[in-house]
Amino acid sequence: MNEKSSVLIIYTGGTIGMKQGPNGLEPFDFSQIPDEVPELRKFAIKLDAYTFNPLIDSSDVEPSMWRRLAEIIRDNYDSYDGFVVLHGTDTMAYSASALSFMLDGLSKPVVFTGSQLPVGSPRTDGKENLVSAVEVAAAKRGDGSAMVPEVCIYFDSKLIRGNRATKVNATSFSAFKSPNIPPLAEAGINIRYNEALIRRPSLGGGFRISTTLDTRVAILKVHPGITEQVARNVLLGEGIRAVIIETYGSGNAISRKWFTDIVAESAAGGKILLNVTQCLAGEVNMDLYATGRALQAAGVTGGGDITTEAGLAKLFYLMGEFTDNEKVKSLLGQNLRGEISK
Ligand code: ASP
Repeated sequence: MNEKSSVLIIYTGGTIGMKQGPNGLEPFDFSQIPDEVPELRKFAIKLDAYTFNPLIDSSDVEPSMWRRLAEIIRDNYDSYDGFVVLHGTDTMAYSASALSFMLDGLSKPVVFTGSQLPVGSPRTDGKENLVSAVEVAAAKRGDGSAMVPEVCIYFDSKLIRGNRATKVNATSFSAFKSPNIPPLAEAGINIRYNEALIRRPSLGGGFRISTTLDTRVAILKVHPGITEQVARNVLLGEGIRAVIIETYGSGNAISRKWFTDIVAESAAGGKILLNVTQCLAGEVNMDLYATGRALQAAGVTGGGDITTEAGLAKLFYLMGEFTDNEKVKSLLGQNLRGEISK
């Protein structure tokens, strides 16, 4: 690691910095982060902290917070080698996905982390998560470039790409998984980086942020017993520009005519429809079954192996960038930030 590395820790809230209040766990002022985690002083890294006010439970995260995060990173981009974002686990996969799209041409690490137990609790997982996240944010290759110039999540000894992550466990320290690609790094005695998997910024492209998000997206999870009225309300709903249809298995949904008619009416009316599987792993392939083909014929775009969190973030980002829905649909099928296997 370079002696002069510097990392900005951006503290947004979450369990890592919470303590017991009259109404349950509440965020407290953990702004002097190295005082709370003295292990951080053992690194030869310059550490600064930026604390959100107010601190939030990540269940209250909104796109305005993502915009602020992107702006803080942009405003401090030249002063630090990497960034650590302390964030609640509940929506960490959404925030990491969103930032992966909003930060274009990223050449520095942005490492999200948090914990399942507050940092003051004796068995906390927060210290190891934070210390290793800082190490990843400061890590450089032999040529001086960042080891992981990506938005990622460090949790329970694994570094995973932010837009591949999903929260899979409410109580285990192993709260996140990246079901469709292996971790970018694993920590044991050393942190072992999977360099072949880590994305590098394209040459010549500068860093810029994109903060225009269009959030007019609904998510429809198909299930046995879904009624025609529910499908109509979502797929033909007003003020909705795109619908993520969470389908079964390889992208299959109800083949009955009433359902495919509503889907076709929705697509013909101009809505962007994205097919994402309900399965934890694997991908949508609408060619496989007649039930999938019917969706394809009706005008649904396949999401491949994208997670719902990344699908939502990608739609917010693309719809904010482009008013033309056909352009959005064509970019949905392209791998922009490593969010799909293509
Ligand atoms: N509710 C908390 C949050 O997401 C949970 C956590 O941090 O693990 O902010």
